[in-house]
Amino acid sequence: MIYFDNNATTRPLDEVVEAMLELLRVDYANPSSVHQFGQRVRHRVECAREQVAALIGASPKEIVFTGGGTESINLAVRGVLAAQPTKRRLVTSGVEHSAVKRLGEQLAREGYVVERVGVDQEGRLDLAELERRLDDETALVSVMWANNETGVLFDVERIAALTADRGVPLHLDAVQAVGRVPVDVASLPVQLLSLSGHKIHGPKGTGALYVRRRTRLRPLLVGGRQERDLRPGTENVAGIVGLGLAAEICGRRFERVRDEVAALRDRLERGIRQYCPNTRVNGGGAPRTYNTTNIGFENLQAEAILLVLSEHGICASSGAACSSGSLEPSHVLQAMNIETRFAHGAIRFSLSQFNTADQVDRVVEALPRLLASLTPVTTV
Ligand code: PLP
Repeated sequence: MIYFDNNATTRPLDEVVEAMLELLRVDYANPSSVHQFGQRVRHRVECAREQVAALIGASPKEIVFTGGGTESINLAVRGVLAAQPTKRRLVTSGVEHSAVKRLGEQLAREGYVVERVGVDQEGRLDLAELERRLDDETALVSVMWANNETGVLFDVERIAALTADRGVPLHLDAVQAVGRVPVDVASLPVQLLSLSGHKIHGPKGTGALYVRRRTRLRPLLVGGRQERDLRPGTENVAGIVGLGLAAEICGRRFERVRDEVAALRDRLERGIRQYCPNTRVNGGGAPRTYNTTNIGFENLQAEAILLVLSEHGICASSGAACSSGSLEPSHVLQAMNIETRFAHGAIRFSLSQFNTADQVDRVVEALPRLLASLTPVTTV
């Protein structure tokens, strides 16, 4: 099997799995218990908090552990809105992951004004439009740092400068950015930042929300006093320790992994463009994460490509969603105004440190033959 679907999820590191097993088997006490056993487990949780904080340049006190990226995003957005009841506007973008996109739709149904800033053909955020949308009613700006479908990076320095200038809190969905670009909240004026364990070779169902000191935030849940009242409930200790270790290793190996995986991604992209006619790299003109390429195959259907790839043991992905029987191009590619003949056949290949040059070469070699077996569709 060749796994090129690392933006969907990554393989947990062996070290992470081992550490989690040990926690489940041996260090199973409740970290809120006063006995020594409990305090030993508390220590493990606090070490993990330090590891996650170190990866993003935060102080450990600013890290809240959650049950994943989606929960971090919901806590950030709803938490800030609830803390500022007089402000009813949320500004986001047209290319967000469904965690932010569908939350925005839900908030609009609840009476909030939700503005979606557009992107250009390469997927870059329209900063002039963002600036125009900020006003005294704006409770929060919530945008992604790296796009899950294309890998395109928003210019977060400029976004943060704009929001700071207007005094509007900024939340970044950094689920695809952490581990793929250097993240340093000490030098970036962002109030909240979401990350997820399973995108950095940690466990699924784990995540964290960075909350800058003095940011006003209400919890989503009511219960115990865990996570400074922001996320009640007995901690997922094994998950938290796994996330912490994944974060520590991610930081330690960052440059080496980046250079190696970038070379593989570029080799894949070059190979596909050379041997497969009529392709387009969506977002290829913008700064991107080093592991992702989104390739549009002209007049082909993504679903059909994925099926034939899967039959040959190649795991990739597409942003297309099946709606009312017809395959619609993803909202991301639609927002980028990608021509229909390329948007319908857009495939995301996302790599990781577990991939090899041999795997890339096998995909490049197999693709032209596999694509030739598909029937082209003409779209109007
Ligand atoms: N945001 C982005 C950009 C993502 O890619 C994902 C996961 O695919 C999420 C949020 C949700 O994260 P999680 O799967 O940890 O809930």
